[in-house]
Amino acid sequence: MLKGKVAIVTGGTRGIGYAVVKKYLENGAKVILFGSRQETADKAVASLKEENASWEVEGMAPSLADAEEVAEAIAKVKEKYGRLDILVNNAGISQSTKLYDYDPKEFEKAINLNVNAIFYAIQPAAKIMKEQGGGCIINTSSMVSISGQPAGVGYPASKFAVNGITISLARELGPDNIRVNAVAPGVTRTDMVAALPPQVVEGLVKTVPLRRVGEPEEVANAFLFLASDMASYVTGEILSVDGAARS
Ligand code: NAD
Repeated sequence: MLKGKVAIVTGGTRGIGYAVVKKYLENGAKVILFGSRQETADKAVASLKEENASWEVEGMAPSLADAEEVAEAIAKVKEKYGRLDILVNNAGISQSTKLYDYDPKEFEKAINLNVNAIFYAIQPAAKIMKEQGGGCIINTSSMVSISGQPAGVGYPASKFAVNGITISLARELGPDNIRVNAVAPGVTRTDMVAALPPQVVEGLVKTVPLRRVGEPEEVANAFLFLASDMASYVTGEILSVDGAARS
């Protein structure tokens, strides 16, 4: 479904991002995964190559807090591969601190990675996509971008912003043939969820109509659909993959 396409996936070293990288490779894309450290990026690449030595995948580790570093990394991808078809903004952190205990710096941390870094990546990527006649950007939102959550307000605040960026840029970049969508996962089996106390996860599962957590691969399927030509007329969409937990 993605034969010959070149994709960047941020936070591709584990969890949902790793599942997206694998799904894209299985479908013929060349993938550059961005990790927070070169060492973890290389480790993820090695584990993917172990599964299939012919997959074209490499790891980079620009600081997502630095707009210039992100732009330089994206320029290097364009230089090496000649194009950039798909940008997946997936790196993210969640928070669960109660309002009265919040350090403003912690709030800023969620906004810096979950919102600002997306902007840093989209700007240079969209310029390349415009020049080559089109492309596709997929952001990672969350079910909390619809329902909010009763703690860690920085997290839902950042994901509401992700939806705002997605819908607005779909409108702005549509004339350049750049589609902009988001996937909004529910409770998904990754390190992010493993970090929660088991009773919290149990409580969350009870609120999911499908009565289970989602698997990273089930979320990755949505990223595949949105990146593929099957979604050629889909843009500005926030696609929930959450067992209807948002309701
Ligand atoms: P994870 O913690 O397993 O993976 C997060 C990824 O982001 C990792 O690859 C990590 O290296 C990267 N990352 C974290 N901080 C970084 C930084 N400062 N710089 C660069 N990279 C950084 O989490 P996950 O569950 O796979 O989450 C991936 C995305 O899915 C996030 O945007 C998250 O908000 C979203 N999401 C997850 C769930 C869930 O239940 N797991 C639900 C809704 C949305």
